[in-house]
Amino acid sequence: MVARADTTTPPHGEAPDLTDWLNAVGQGRSESERAFIGKAMDCAQSAHRQQRRASGEPYFLHCLAVAEIVHHLKLDHEAVAAAILHDVVEDTDVTLDWVRKEFGENVARLVDGVTKMGRIGEMRENSDGKHRSRPSDSESIRKLLLAMAEDVRVVLIKLADRLHNMRTLRYLSEQRQQRIARDTLEIYAPLANRLGIWQVKWELEDLALRYLDPESYHRIASLLDGRRIDRERHIELVKSRLGAAFQAAGIKAEITGRPKHIYSIWRKMQRKSIDFHEIFDVQAVRVLVDSPGDCYAVLGIVHGLWQYVPNEFDDYVANPKSNNYRSLHTAVIGPEGKAVEVQIRSHEMHDHAELGIAAHWLYKEGAHFDSGFERKVVWLRQLLEWKEEEPSADEFVDRFKSESVEERVYVLTPQGRVIDMPAGATALDFAYHIHTDVGHRCRGVKVNGRIVPLTYELRTGEQVEVLTGRQAKPSRDWINPHLGYLKTSRARAKVRHWIKLQDRDINIAAGRSALERELHRLGLSNSHLDEVAVRLNFSDVDSLMAALGRGETQTGQVVSVLMHILEPEPETAAPLLVPNRRAARKRSPDDFRVLGVGNLLTNPARCCRPVPDDPIVGYITRGRGVTIHRKDCSSVLRLKEEDRDRLIDVEWGDSPDKVFPVHICITAFDRPGLLRDVSTILANDRISMLGVSTRTNTKDMIANMDLQAEVTDIAQLSRILDRIAQLSNVIEVRRKV
Ligand code: MN
Repeated sequence: MVARADTTTPPHGEAPDLTDWLNAVGQGRSESERAFIGKAMDCAQSAHRQQRRASGEPYFLHCLAVAEIVHHLKLDHEAVAAAILHDVVEDTDVTLDWVRKEFGENVARLVDGVTKMGRIGEMRENSDGKHRSRPSDSESIRKLLLAMAEDVRVVLIKLADRLHNMRTLRYLSEQRQQRIARDTLEIYAPLANRLGIWQVKWELEDLALRYLDPESYHRIASLLDGRRIDRERHIELVKSRLGAAFQAAGIKAEITGRPKHIYSIWRKMQRKSIDFHEIFDVQAVRVLVDSPGDCYAVLGIVHGLWQYVPNEFDDYVANPKSNNYRSLHTAVIGPEGKAVEVQIRSHEMHDHAELGIAAHWLYKEGAHFDSGFERKVVWLRQLLEWKEEEPSADEFVDRFKSESVEERVYVLTPQGRVIDMPAGATALDFAYHIHTDVGHRCRGVKVNGRIVPLTYELRTGEQVEVLTGRQAKPSRDWINPHLGYLKTSRARAKVRHWIKLQDRDINIAAGRSALERELHRLGLSNSHLDEVAVRLNFSDVDSLMAALGRGETQTGQVVSVLMHILEPEPETAAPLLVPNRRAARKRSPDDFRVLGVGNLLTNPARCCRPVPDDPIVGYITRGRGVTIHRKDCSSVLRLKEEDRDRLIDVEWGDSPDKVFPVHICITAFDRPGLLRDVSTILANDRISMLGVSTRTNTKDMIANMDLQAEVTDIAQLSRILDRIAQLSNVIEVRRKV
């Protein structure tokens, strides 16, 4: 049972006796765990000492109440401490670092998780509410909350927080009551259901209904109440008949009357459009037994005593629900001809049903949370099973088949709407996702209030705001896959479509300048374009340029056709890219790579003629580069001591099939880190840099970087030129011929 507000914490105003409270919550915990909780209690009390809730009671009592709910969910001492501290970072001067220092990494992580979840809720509360009616949105929010929480205890603490807030909702304005109650019903109760915590789910639902449909709530409550005497007498009769039958059969069983929840009755009335009096299973008993086998024995006895109602039997023991709920459900026409619903389950199944995911650890690990792996497994399974809950959401089910939850990111609009996008989606993708027009007019994007590049990769939980200009101005760069502006093909298609609709003249001009820029960069001439157009099936050069401008044809295609025209037989005529090695399977002595020095001129030594895979050593000669000797070469072994300084480490290069040396010129306003950024780009593409020289003009601070590298083909060259051009401060980058 989850604690009602009135179990330990007094209802209103007066503080509970803290020693009593600590004793209650410390039950079943070690001395040090109890002290840990006590310390959290002291901290929260002093941190919140100035604050009061809307009810007028000290804020600190809310912290205790939440912790008490968490305790009753049988969570560990870290979770209880985190529950006590769950509002300190957001609402007081206490920092997360301080929590980490005092209570350790785990508690800090839990508090941080709850704080972040709270911010999501706030964003929604501050929103205009216009976007919130769609059920898919609630689903996204729930998924967002789950995706954000690395540790399921965060969600449980958040649910406890919400439960206590619902219990004290009457102190808030009616408008906030409505909003919070609706969120509870749409988001938090389904979350509790997903995690299988029935007790929390029912209470959240009943409390929410009380504010959302007070009339029905009170009507059902008073009807339930009005028939209570009669019902209780009847339940007693059922219990005594069952008790006698179980005893006769030698089965140990615990029988309890079970209150039906107001919300579930209300739902049934709504769903079946029937009135209260027609709901026959308002009366219910629950039978708890020791083993699953006994469940079926009890079922047999129940069905033997009374006539069962067809279609009301469910076997969730053999077929557990997606959230692992296990129980037998049946309904019979009991004594006096009145229908009775009977639930039959073992004690263990019962704990699972009441505590949900929390019970999983209780049984598996004795309430300790040391098995991170197990937790993750359960967690993922729960996430994957989410789909069962929304059988109508076909799209979601389909999507789930092809990708897991972790391959999506959930971000929020400034209005608090959740947008669900593929992982890796950029800020610009987001703009296009909101609306095509927003994408076209996008000039900048803010993430959590900070301006970010359009290529910024979004992360779950971030709030994203698009800054738009008046006119649609998509850039042709946006569809260049090398530049990483757009990850989703849908957004790229939208940009391409927009470009296509532009004037033919504009497209011709854009195509021509794009091609010329590319040819210039790659050090190629713009001759033979007529022939290129013909080979690519265009009627003339202008049509080719227009297609380039529209993005239907890529400059890369033109370049590769041009290469074929200019270089019909790569082995003869002056080739445009000269391979510096043959595509040899066997490594030759050309394949030396000198470690740590760059590509110095190397020669195999004549004395020992090293062959690939011989252990080798380099000798720096005077003016003839490095000579490569075998390590056991006698002339190396006989070297004079003062000459040994000239020996350097070398190793056989790995021989790619074919690489081409190229010269790349970069012009940029000099800045620290520029060379590092350039070399990172090369390294990411596994390109070896053979040498680099930089000259900076101290007057205008313009740097000219001259870089030698080996590329595998012209497409790779084009790609890295694109990427280097994107670096900040770079003015121009091109191949030098
Ligand atoms: Mn709170």
